[in-house]
Amino acid sequence: MAFRITDECISCGACEPECPNQAISEGDVVFVIDPDRCTECIGAHETQQCAEICPVDACVPDEEHRESKEELLEKWKRLHPGEEPVLF
Ligand code: SF4
Ligand code: SF4
Repeated sequence: MAFRITDECISCGACEPECPNQAISEGDVVFVIDPDRCTECIGAHETQQCAEICPVDACVPDEEHRESKEELLEKWKRLHPGEEPVLF
């Protein structure tokens, strides 16, 4: 499933450059994750980079966007045509 950013976000911006899919952007109130671009970092990293760097633990699984690992890998391939995913 994609990740989402909770209201705990203090808009520090640390997560945005860490995302391998450019899924994170500054929203009206807090930073936001585009579920069409978030692959849970599958295809690029072993762990979720936004959650790793967030100082207030505001990056959490988005229960409304449940997807299998296979679906997330397919999403990564659509976002990175011609590239080879890093698999763990
Ligand atoms: S889990 Fe990974 S792909 Fe999803 S928003 Fe966070 S850094 Fe980006
Ligand atoms: S790292 Fe955490 S607090 Fe900072 S912008 Fe991202 S979600 Fe918000």
